[in-house]
Amino acid sequence: MSAIRQLPSSVVNKIAAGEVIERPASVVKELMENSIDAGATRIDVVVEQGGLELIRVSDNGSGIPADELTLAVTSHATSKISDADDLFCVQTLGFRGEALASIAEVSRLLLRTRVASAEAGHELEVNGGQSSGVAPCGAPVGTTVEIRQLFFNTPVRRKFLRSTQTEMSHIAEAFTRLALANPHVHCTLSHNGRSQFDLPPAGHDWRGRIAAFFGHDLAADLIGVSSTDDEVRLEGFVASPSHSRGNARLQYLFLNGRAIRDRSLQHALGEAFRGLLLTGRYPIAFLQIQMPAELVDVNVHPTKLEVRFQESGKLYSQLLGTLRTKFLTSDLTARLRTDNQHEAALALDGDQADLMRRELVDWAKGQLTVSDQFAPADTARASQAMFEVPLENRAPLELSVLEPRPSAAATSGGAARTSANSAYRVDEPSPASRPPAGLQLHNRYLIAESGDGMVVIDQHALHERILYEHLREKVLTGAIETQALLVGEPVDLTPAEATAVLEAHELLAKLGLAIEPFGGSTVLVSSYPAMLANFRPADVLRDLATQLLGDGKRPESRDILDSLLHMISCKAAIKAGDRLSQDEIMALLEQRHLARDTHHCPHGRPTALYFSRDDLDKQFKRT
Ligand code: ADP
Ligand code: MG
Repeated sequence: MSAIRQLPSSVVNKIAAGEVIERPASVVKELMENSIDAGATRIDVVVEQGGLELIRVSDNGSGIPADELTLAVTSHATSKISDADDLFCVQTLGFRGEALASIAEVSRLLLRTRVASAEAGHELEVNGGQSSGVAPCGAPVGTTVEIRQLFFNTPVRRKFLRSTQTEMSHIAEAFTRLALANPHVHCTLSHNGRSQFDLPPAGHDWRGRIAAFFGHDLAADLIGVSSTDDEVRLEGFVASPSHSRGNARLQYLFLNGRAIRDRSLQHALGEAFRGLLLTGRYPIAFLQIQMPAELVDVNVHPTKLEVRFQESGKLYSQLLGTLRTKFLTSDLTARLRTDNQHEAALALDGDQADLMRRELVDWAKGQLTVSDQFAPADTARASQAMFEVPLENRAPLELSVLEPRPSAAATSGGAARTSANSAYRVDEPSPASRPPAGLQLHNRYLIAESGDGMVVIDQHALHERILYEHLREKVLTGAIETQALLVGEPVDLTPAEATAVLEAHELLAKLGLAIEPFGGSTVLVSSYPAMLANFRPADVLRDLATQLLGDGKRPESRDILDSLLHMISCKAAIKAGDRLSQDEIMALLEQRHLARDTHHCPHGRPTALYFSRDDLDKQFKRT
């Protein structure tokens, strides 16, 4: 080992930069935080190429005096705290004095600023940590910080960045948090010259600002909550249980104006909604917590996303108690009932399900005539029926419209269900008298004889696999069936989701889903894959977005397509719990040989378990 030596400050700064500035979104967060700390009432964020080319944040805040400019970009230089005691009563978003220095170390930074009392503005350029010196310039009161070529001198970090789309969705998320936490500030965001958000000051109308990001549908279903316990004030909204998500991303918690993540509070939210949401679903919440700064330690995380509460148990109880009381005293039941009915109707409605399944099976069998069968008018009628048919009167779930192909009919003495078709003989044995192709157990498994033994099949997994193969084939040959919507359906997404799906619009078009921007983070769906006709576009699009955003890893576009195919086939496939007729069982079993790899469903679970006759003989001690 070589001798111990003090690292040069540029290296120290690069190390620090690595902690604070992980990706372009970190820059946006730090710069917007500085603007807010400077008392700005307007912040404009301009981004090019997901922040890799340019990030410019301009504010009308206090500005920086010319003689402090150099200090502003020096590490551990801050105007926000002066001694260690201050650390325990931080009133500002920043206090570490590291952000500007870190950013300047790994980019080309231009800082232009003017305080109200100064005649002119001043600017300072820093290139990879090398400062140019301060020079006068014209500038309005406030500060503009321009970052170009982020990570140009740290190629490894740059290599770790994801696509423009992914980086932009992180930026949109950072912007969302700051704009939500500061409704009184006019915030704008543009990407590649296109305005993404222009949010005039919302004052006390927090719901309005939430609506600007997440749509009026959600905002209208928000339930206001507020409580005060000693010095701790809790205020905000939770969404009615009819809205939920597959992850906790829509749980926005703000502590003294700072967006935080807190497992314990998330848990309290989950507890409050226990029994109101299906397992695996997460409530949506926008909550502001105000407490004296000395009751919380914000200095535990470089990006200050996590904090430590002095009395975290008490806060947990306060949140849980507030929500429980609120739920007990509000009329959730009405909303729940309509919603369950709606969902049940979506899942089970006889006519619609029948139509869908007939189509699916035909499709799976390569006999599809979707285009005329599934004209928009038809769908409109079907979806209308969906709301009209009372659940109780629903016919038992019937899939029995599968037509065995002539060959199958011949070999298995198959069921001639459609006497209209002259290829079938009408005097064939009735379904009851022919030997069953397979047996359905627990509405979930199929049992069938195989050449040299028996096989137990997971009906959902098998159907999913079959649909997946067919769908992939269709996508590859560009022959996917879509239905154009007469009137496009606007879907409110989160900014990150909207960015993700819009950037992937070509890919989605391949799947039959045509979308276009519709202002803010609303996306207009103008055509839709036929096989998903009885799912709501909003739900499908959100699920697709969740897939696209994934776990932050940037998959190849082929992988994305694949995972979208999986999702669609999983949605469209018959479910465990669906009762199948003999014909449906037969059709499914028949398809088994057509799918390329039916041994595993697209999720990698086995679709079937085989038991050879030899095995059975052995088990029964016949050998
Ligand atoms: P911190 O925010 O933790 O103090 P920064 O490196 O982000 O550290 O900023 C250093 C200092 O520069 C701040 O303390 C503040 O005085 C000044 N500053 C930075 N950005 C702005 C701005 N937009 N308006 C006014 N002052 C700013
Ligand atoms: Mg700062």
